[in-house]
Amino acid sequence: MFSLVDQLVPMTQLQKLSTLICILAITFSCTQSEYPELVIVNANVYTATAQIPETRSEFGIAINDGIITNIDESDIIKNMAGENTKVLDADGQFLMPGFIEAHGHFMGIGQQLINVNLMQTNNWDEVVALVDEKVKTTEKGAWIVGRGWHQEKWNRQPEESHYGYPTHHSISNITKEHPVLLKHASGHSLFANAMAMKLAGIDLETPNPVGGQIIRTSQGEAIGVFEERAMESIEHAYETYRNSLSEKELKDEWLAIMALAQKECIEKGITSFQDAGTEIRYLDDMEQYAKDDSLRLRLWVMGRDSLKNLQKSISKHRVVGLGDHHYTCRAIKSEVDGALGAFGAWLLKPYHDKTDFKGQNTTDIKEVAAIADLALKNNMQLCVHAIGDRANRVVLDIFEAKLADIDSNVVNPRWRIEHAQHLNTADIPRFKEMGAIASMQGIHCTSDAPFVEKRLGTQRAKEGAYAWRSLLDAGVLIANGTDAPVEDVDPIKNFYATVTRKRADNGMSFFPEQAMSRNEALKSYTIWNAYAAFEEDLKGSIEVGKLADFVILNKDLLSCHDDEILNTEILYTIIDGEIQYEK
Ligand SMILES: [Zn+2]
Repeated sequence: MFSLVDQLVPMTQLQKLSTLICILAITFSCTQSEYPELVIVNANVYTATAQIPETRSEFGIAINDGIITNIDESDIIKNMAGENTKVLDADGQFLMPGFIEAHGHFMGIGQQLINVNLMQTNNWDEVVALVDEKVKTTEKGAWIVGRGWHQEKWNRQPEESHYGYPTHHSISNITKEHPVLLKHASGHSLFANAMAMKLAGIDLETPNPVGGQIIRTSQGEAIGVFEERAMESIEHAYETYRNSLSEKELKDEWLAIMALAQKECIEKGITSFQDAGTEIRYLDDMEQYAKDDSLRLRLWVMGRDSLKNLQKSISKHRVVGLGDHHYTCRAIKSEVDGALGAFGAWLLKPYHDKTDFKGQNTTDIKEVAAIADLALKNNMQLCVHAIGDRANRVVLDIFEAKLADIDSNVVNPRWRIEHAQHLNTADIPRFKEMGAIASMQGIHCTSDAPFVEKRLGTQRAKEGAYAWRSLLDAGVLIANGTDAPVEDVDPIKNFYATVTRKRADNGMSFFPEQAMSRNEALKSYTIWNAYAAFEEDLKGSIEVGKLADFVILNKDLLSCHDDEILNTEILYTIIDGEIQYEK
């Protein structure tokens, strides 16, 4: 099997020599003076490398000081254990490098967990019940915030409804002392209770703002639903409340968000997380969090802010491998369009179901080009959100122009297109030509499957939507992730979508010929993601000298039946040679 990463990064003689010296030094110090801290025995090891066999059953790994020191037959590794060595018997289970999430929103995951999470609700009654639950543990006067309701997904209509929307009474009756704000799953509308509307000054006379609508009954009473720009009045009232909180209250909340996010990720087998855009004002706190040894997983962050703020201070936040490789910020995020579902993807030709419309460009191209200059100047990666085929072409044009003077075979700055979701086939080889990375989300393919053909028509959907096979065949490196909290951060669900392109709920499949093989999908979640962050020398595969970050699973993801994938459980998450989660 070929290794894309090896093709893309030929090792220089010097690198080979230094790797050899490094291995010798580790072996020497290990045999000389100390026993391993941890040995894992009886594992069915998937290494994610090309140099040694991809899978080896009955193998063992020795770890010292958070680094892999030996990989060998289980009995040999077992004999290395000293009196104080911890021995972990993997019992023949599947051991692989820890999952690396390539595109998620770390604080967003924590926020979703601290707030009311409505993503799994099947009807309005369930939403009301969750809010009722939250009321019991929330101080009077504090806002209750949630996200994820979607009336199109409900199995029954609310008792009292207008245009399919619930009315505010059901929640206004539960609490008269907490303003409630519940964002729609799409983010394009919200629900407010009576107290929130009162604080926002909404009454019978409040006019609709330009670009937004306050949904009202025929008598003119606001039902509690605010669409598009009309959301701003409620959001403004919420902001006013946030501004009234003390610095300590805000800090405590932030710490809780960080703790919840990493707990969620670690329990799902994620050992490294690439954050797709954090505002500059949080970067100092994240750095400090790493310095305080509070980061249990490894966080790699793209700074995302206005051009002005980025120009002013991104250089100060560039940091690599802080806190024993737990925190890195060496990338900048930008975006040029929106999402396909809401007609926000920027297309070359009109939408199939909105024939006078080609979507929108959200950030001025000159601004994106200026951010590209900033990335080059500061030796940072540029990661640009592009979903529509026009968005992708425009971003590739910017990459091409800015990288014209750089020989990407010698120094590839590894710029990334985040999503790379809908491509014109002519643009696929261009990724390879300029060494650009397609940072994609397997699970988006199956989540969006019900409407992609509607929006794009069959030909565009077939040729260019989530075109993993075409990209891989063209030699392009794909990084894989979930865009959590837009999707569940769970790598297993994402892996299933990546290798089957099938929905588990109704069996609907989306052009399965573009699916990845098991081996490709595992690499797209480990070593390829490490490469997409300039970290392939540190992690992403199981090799002597690399960080001891693993997961042990109860299914063999290389060989189990498709139907078994979703029953996979994380048995252990190990980071730095320490067990961070055990089922
Ligand atoms: Zn995202």
